[in-house]
Parts: sequence; structure tokens; C-alpha cells
Amino acid sequence: MKQTIGFIGVGIMGKPMSQNLLRAGYPLVVHDRVPAPVDELIRDGGTAGGSCRGVAERSDIVITMLPDSPDVQDAVFGPAGVLEGIRKGAIYIDMSTISPITTREVAAAMEARGVPMLDAPVSGGQKGAMEATLSIMVGGPLSVFEQVRPIFEVMGKNVVHMGEIGAGQVTKACNQIIVGVTIMAVSEALTLARKSGVDPARVRAALFGGFAQSRILELHGQRMLDRNFAPGFKIRLHHKDLAIALATGKATGTPLLATALVHEVLGALRAQGDEELDHSAIARFVERLAGLDGD
Ligand code: NAD
Repeated sequence: MKQTIGFIGVGIMGKPMSQNLLRAGYPLVVHDRVPAPVDELIRDGGTAGGSCRGVAERSDIVITMLPDSPDVQDAVFGPAGVLEGIRKGAIYIDMSTISPITTREVAAAMEARGVPMLDAPVSGGQKGAMEATLSIMVGGPLSVFEQVRPIFEVMGKNVVHMGEIGAGQVTKACNQIIVGVTIMAVSEALTLARKSGVDPARVRAALFGGFAQSRILELHGQRMLDRNFAPGFKIRLHHKDLAIALATGKATGTPLLATALVHEVLGALRAQGDEELDHSAIARFVERLAGLDGD
């Protein structure tokens, strides 16, 4: 008999991840503030938990996939939260991208209840969640990781144990720094080409095969050329992720100069009403600075 999994937060990422767990034959109890995706998962064979506590009471393993640190704190510590219902000996896994500092606070509260915790943020986006090809970066006790590895392998392909609790979140912050700063670099390069009268599409193509080649130049560069800023990964979420990186830098005495710049650019794009666009829309900001349309 497979363990019962509780899944809290079935949005863009959590819903397809839950569907993959159902397909793999795991009994699933779900909850979200929004009823529509919960109803859909019930039609797919899941059960409604009714609240975070209700999910925790019925599950051997509780997974959260929520937007940000305060959402995880609310779901765990709030009224009718996970802590009120989770059973001693159960396992708690947070797959949201949140602050490693919050992760460690939650883990300490879980430990006091006899519940081990893993942090397991993901990359790969909605497509990776649907196709079960997510990269999953895990922190927490190795023995617990080994116990739940088959569950991670239902949702992702590249499943890596990174170290102590919080190590998964630190890895994800590193990922988001590289992605954000590289999108900024590609935006500046293609804008410079345009302003210099050189076809940015030909610049992108010419740089393939050299040191500047990257998935970002390939995919986000193409989006910039196509003016395709439908998300994808939203400006709002990347802004949050770089705030996490900066807070972690502050806590560890690590100056993050380029990260701070891109964080401010993402904040400016939010102020300009672009927060729901794909993060490749950083190009719009750079273009506006250069006196181009940026539409
Ligand atoms: P989302 O906003 O689509 O989904 C989050 C869900 O959580 C929503 O349905 C919301 O109603 C629910 N929720 C919020 N607070 C709740 C609470 N207290 N109790 C119950 N439900 C609650 O977000 P998403 O895109 O699925 O992202 C989830 C996490 O995954 C974020 O941390 C994000 O940074 C990360 N992530 C997203 C992507 C992506 O491409 N979207 C990729 C990698 C990682």
C-alpha cells in the first residue's frame, strides 16, 4: 500500500505535480484556498482535505507548494494549519521557493513535533511540472531524502540531495541569480545590436557556439525577438526569488552586486505594471532606457 500524500497549494506548479502523483497510484489529499483546482483533482481521484490541518491529519507525507515565505508560515503555523494536524512520524516537504531562513524556522517547529522536514524547491517551470521533468534540489536529513526519493522521481528527473535543511533553497537562490543576471545581459546585448543597426536575430545566431551561448540566449533571446512575454516565469516571482537571494547574502556577509541591480530592475517593471509578464520582459526595461519602444 502506497503512502498517502497530502498536497497543499495546487496552482500552476502544484496541480500538475499532484496529477503526476495520482497517475503513479499515490492516494492524494489536497487543499488550496482556491476551490477550482481542488475540484479538478477530486475528479482525477484525489480527496479534499478541507484545510491544511485536514490534509495533515490524513497524510503520511505532507507537501506544500505555495508562493512565498509568509504563505508557508501561514499554512504551517496559522489556524487550522499543518502543525495542528500533522502526525508524529509523518514527513513534511516544502517544495515552494522561499527563504532558507524561514525554512529553518519551520523545520525547528516540525522537529519539536517529531516530524522531519525536507526543503525541495524545483526548477523547470510549468512544462517541467506537467512532463515530470523538474529539477528538484533537496535539503534535510539524507535518510529521509532516501525514503521519499521515489516520490520526487514521480515529479522530476534531476533529483539532487544538496545537504542540510535549507541547502535546497540556497541552491535555488543560486539558480535564480544566474538566470536573472543572464537575462539582463542578453537584454542589453540585443538592445545594443538594435541601436547599432545590427540585426539582433543575427547577433543571437552568431553567438551560438561561442562562450556566450546559453539556454537563456537561446530561449529568452528568442522570446525577446518574438516579443513573446506571456509567462513562463513571472516577473513577480523572480523579484521575490532575488529578494530571497539578497536576504541570504546579507545574512551570510555575501555582497551580491549584480543580483541587487536585477532585483531593482524587476521591481521597476512591477511598478510599471509588468509583474505578470515573463521575466524575459527585462528586455522591455532595457529598451525603454535606450529610448526604444519596449512594447
Ligand atoms: P501559484 O500562485 O500558481 O500557486 C500557489 C497556490 O497556493 C495558489 O493556488 C494559492 O491559492 C495557493 N495558496 C496560497 N496560500 C495558501 C494557503 N495558505 N493555503 C492553501 N493554499 C494557498 O504559484 P506557482 O507558480 O505554482 O508557484 C509555487 C511555488 O513554486 C513558488 O514558490 C514559485 O516561486 C515556485 N516555482 C514556480 C515556477 C513557475 O514556473 N511557475 C517554477 C519553479 C518554481
